[in-house]
Amino acid sequence: MRETHARYAGLTDGAVADYIPKLAEADPDWFGISLASATGRSFSVGDAQQEFSIQSISKAFVYALVCESLGHDLMRERIGVNNTGLPFNSVMAIELNGGHTMNPMVNAGALATTGLVPGDSWEEKWDYIHRGLSAFAGRDLELDEEVFASEMETNLRNMGIARLLQSYGHISIDPMRVTELYTRQCSLRVTTEDLARMGATLADGGTNPVTGAEVVSPAVSRDVLAVMATTGMYEASGDWLFEVGMPGKSGVAGGIVTIAPGKGSLATFSPPLDAAGNSVRGIRATRHLSHMLGLNLFSSTAQPG
Ligand code: GLU
Repeated sequence: MRETHARYAGLTDGAVADYIPKLAEADPDWFGISLASATGRSFSVGDAQQEFSIQSISKAFVYALVCESLGHDLMRERIGVNNTGLPFNSVMAIELNGGHTMNPMVNAGALATTGLVPGDSWEEKWDYIHRGLSAFAGRDLELDEEVFASEMETNLRNMGIARLLQSYGHISIDPMRVTELYTRQCSLRVTTEDLARMGATLADGGTNPVTGAEVVSPAVSRDVLAVMATTGMYEASGDWLFEVGMPGKSGVAGGIVTIAPGKGSLATFSPPLDAAGNSVRGIRATRHLSHMLGLNLFSSTAQPG
């Protein structure tokens, strides 16, 4: 891990996201890598204690929580599992699919998923998300109020997507409140150590290997990892699977979580992103570690390379 960090720390490609104004303040040099095993061990290098907003990575974990309550068939029918081939905030992805969302890992499907979170009030729904994501991490995650406020001020596109989904009957509660709830989940603060533990919980069939909490079932973990593999890295999910060979999920603040089922999880954080919105150093570092540790799921041997 130290060698991987040193190898890519000097890479200066990519640009820090600025469409959410607060994210533009991130230091482009921040670079952390963490690994958490499904047996509860962990290792970190670089800026692994630096907090950042979880952003899109929350989609995988909220999806897991909603799958746990609504089940495999309903979620497949309501949200979908196929890649859009289009950017994360695409409106066309909805229009081209007859008004249906295509998967839970991009904004349309994620907003629809958040619209299905159990709870009689907004407070209960937020509590469900907050407690669930904290259980994945094994600690109480805090909201980044500044990132939340900054995104709420510039959130017109997500509001538009939520309204469009409402017009097609795919959000049945107040779409503006759903957008707010979704933006709130995206604004939870994590470190790579948290993300690696969250990923290790999915790697361990839904049981947090450190706290022992059964957050979701093994069947739900398996479903979430399948959707992450096909859609977790936006329209570049095919490139990712080809190079890394594991399910991953990225967020625009610069985090990526990658899961080796049954083994553990890798998490990286580095704010500069490529054109698809994925962390440049994160992709390179994860690919390198996947090769070095023999983690590619499609390899017939667990040999490096
Ligand atoms: N909160 C961000 C948005 O909806 C998340 C996007 C992402 O990380 O891909 O625009």
